[in-house]
Amino acid sequence: MKYSFPGQSALVTGAASGIGEATARLLAANGASVVVSDLQADAVQRVVDAIVADGGKAVANVCDVADAAQVEAAVACAVTHFGALHLAVNNAGIGGDSGPAGELSLEAWQRLIDVNLSGVAYGLRYQIPAILAAGGGAIVNMSSILGLVGDAGSPAYVASKHGVTGLSRSAALAYSARGIRINSIHPGYVETPILDNLDAEARAASVGLHPIGRLGRPEEIAHAIAFLLSDAASFVTGTALTVDGGYTAR
Ligand code: NAD
Repeated sequence: MKYSFPGQSALVTGAASGIGEATARLLAANGASVVVSDLQADAVQRVVDAIVADGGKAVANVCDVADAAQVEAAVACAVTHFGALHLAVNNAGIGGDSGPAGELSLEAWQRLIDVNLSGVAYGLRYQIPAILAAGGGAIVNMSSILGLVGDAGSPAYVASKHGVTGLSRSAALAYSARGIRINSIHPGYVETPILDNLDAEARAASVGLHPIGRLGRPEEIAHAIAFLLSDAASFVTGTALTVDGGYTAR
């Protein structure tokens, strides 16, 4: 599948691994200049080197999305290196709570909300003015199937991802007429390191939740993100796109 992002720059958070890495590589392979942003400095540089080796344009940015000042600096990095920001993917996220709401770890709650929800809000806060200044563009926010349905054992993750769904819709209502399309994406379980905490039994059970009979691959989510960012999705805004092997069709 080919997309075209001529002369456009993109910021991808959580781009050192998994879905974010696949997205950064796909956008760069289709002509975007990419700010590869993540907490992990070494892994960020590895992704940048791979993109450049493939003939793409990329720059490294080390950023904790839970820190608003660092998110502002990531946006500034795009403008400094590439002259403007047109596209953003607020993808950085963590898992980490396990157990029902009555046993909630308050520390896990706070960190999940700080990274998964506030990180996206900070992204919108600083990306939108930059994209308006560039004359328009598009943003994709990473939610999950668990931003649409509940999960008894992951109340903090579910709350953070439902928050991303609402934040994305509200931002789309505010900015679609001003040239920024904003959508959220809702993957089912995808084979990335975020699933490393699942034991074999939990992993098999998670496969069973997907009617397609397997977990997703990072590249399958990256393609949906690229579509939402591209002109092919020029009438798509404020939507919550599931890419979930049928998980939410039940
Ligand atoms: P991953 O662990 O491979 O990648 C997540 C990346 O985010 C890592 O590189 C990590 O360093 C980075 N990160 C974590 N905290 C950060 C922070 N505070 N600031 C900046 N970067 C940070 O996992 P993934 O599966 O690729 O996850 C990407 C996104 O997709 C997450 O938001 C996750 O919730 C979401 N998601 C994943 C799945 C899945 O099953 N893998 C399903 C639905 C949604």
